[in-house]
Amino acid sequence: MKEHEFNCPYCYNEISTWIETDKFKQQFIEDCGECSNPLEMIIDCSSGHIHTIMINPIAQ
Ligand SMILES: [Zn+2]
Repeated sequence: MKEHEFNCPYCYNEISTWIETDKFKQQFIEDCGECSNPLEMIIDCSSGHIHTIMINPIAQ
């Protein structure tokens, strides 16, 4: 697990999330801890390293 910090595309606050780095491809929805808006996380990992993280706001 690795902690990743990023800026929320809704409220621009810096928030952090924990990423399981032993899962090769993962996609999940996480709510921003500040504004509670849903974010789609698309993450590519291998052998403990994070390769790419895409964070998309989900239009409601
Ligand atoms: Zn937010």
